[in-house]
Amino acid sequence: MLAALPCRVMQALAAATLALALLPPAPALPEQPSRAIGKPYDGRLVGGVPFPGEGEAFFTWDWALKTSPNREWRRYATSKTVATTLTIIAEYRAAHPEAPRVGVADLSRPQGGDFGRRYGGDGHASHQNGLDVDITYPRTDKAERPPIRPTQVDRRLAQDLVDRFVRAGAQYVFVGTRVRLGGPRRVVSAIGNHNDHLHVRLRP
Ligand SMILES: [Zn+2]
Repeated sequence: MLAALPCRVMQALAAATLALALLPPAPALPEQPSRAIGKPYDGRLVGGVPFPGEGEAFFTWDWALKTSPNREWRRYATSKTVATTLTIIAEYRAAHPEAPRVGVADLSRPQGGDFGRRYGGDGHASHQNGLDVDITYPRTDKAERPPIRPTQVDRRLAQDLVDRFVRAGAQYVFVGTRVRLGGPRRVVSAIGNHNDHLHVRLRP
């Protein structure tokens, strides 16, 4: 097949091959790209990165120990999940400089997989492949801990957080049945056990 090509094409091919051989090797990527494997409720995480323990605009919350910061092994996710969440928090903070810091609770374990009750607290059925993030609702008293009662939830700020995750393309946002938060039906659902935090599922 090649022999049938005109001579000029052959010369060009040879020159291109030589040029490729002379190129320096491509630089190694700074880190292994993260991959969400399987399903959020039956999956694992490859190349995950930890969400930072604390920042100017957020604190992290350990459901099991009821303390801040959350232990590092409870806050792994894909690099995209971490970056998207940090961007949303930064933009939220810029829009509401008076707001309390955002509470980020559990993400996934370092290699993902089971995050059930054996890991403390109520555990999670999902949170297995680095795409799920729990965010505690902002409180009207600005305390940096999850609200105990729905009346402690700053609904204006909480709804703004929901809206920002929806606009960022979240697949699902689960909110509590008693906190009166809403959004597009295909994305935002009110379900049990979410009156102190919203659960976001981001796309891979
Ligand atoms: Zn969750």
